[in-house]
Amino acid sequence: MTTPIIISASRRTDMPRFHLDVLTDGLRRRRFAWHHPFNGRLMELALPVEQKAVLVLWSKDFDRFLENRSAFEGWPLFFHFTINTPLTLLEPDLPPLRQRLCQLEQLASLYSPEAVRWRFDPIVCWESGGQAHDNLRGLEAIAPDVAAAGVKDVTVSFMDHYRKIDRRLADRPLTFRTPSPQEQVELFAPWAAVLTELKFTVHTCCEPVLASGIQGVRPGRCIDADLLSRLTGMVVEAKDDLGQRRDHGCLCHRSIDIGCYAHHRCRGQCLYCYARP
Ligand code: SF4
Repeated sequence: MTTPIIISASRRTDMPRFHLDVLTDGLRRRRFAWHHPFNGRLMELALPVEQKAVLVLWSKDFDRFLENRSAFEGWPLFFHFTINTPLTLLEPDLPPLRQRLCQLEQLASLYSPEAVRWRFDPIVCWESGGQAHDNLRGLEAIAPDVAAAGVKDVTVSFMDHYRKIDRRLADRPLTFRTPSPQEQVELFAPWAAVLTELKFTVHTCCEPVLASGIQGVRPGRCIDADLLSRLTGMVVEAKDDLGQRRDHGCLCHRSIDIGCYAHHRCRGQCLYCYARP
């Protein structure tokens, strides 16, 4: 029997929200195709019937997935659900927060709370009207409901700044800013305490400074083969993913990401996003 693998859909785009048909067609045909993010080469994954796989789904809106979840029957699933702000300034096109929290509750009750990881990602800092702002207060509106759904793990990460994001802000009265590592620790530490008080395990995504600087915050592994093995009862392949930012502290295990910047483009409008035009 071939070792079970991990399929990630996707770090590059929101497939459950915008390209669910690509996922369901691929599962039906047991075949996926995408273009390599750096060299544009056509990549393919064919899954013979004996090849088992766990599917890790990343999204900010699981509505379409929930409506069509029967197409995923028989495939072990794990969910990264990003809910990081009720602010339409940062994410103008998402459904209202209440709706997204309901989706999270549904996923937890359908697939188990352990199969759902909440992502508060990214933590965003900006300046506007001469004042400093951040989206951390959004935790107050989100964390109690996530905890009530039984989900006990949260992943956090600060925004990464790219020049094209600044171009997007040309006609807006705000600028994003990147706090120093020390300021990141100071900003997040009180909120980490709020989360641990609510019994969350707080994981970081490529933020070693938070993990080493704040008690109770641990270096995270968004793709965690050991966790997926425990949840699915299979022994999933657990090799380091050398294609991720290991120099930034990424601890992920290897997965095959079937998302494509060229053909599965995210149509989300997140102001801080580096993956969209
Ligand atoms: S616009 Fe960017 S950050 Fe927003 S959902 Fe799409 S890929 Fe994610």
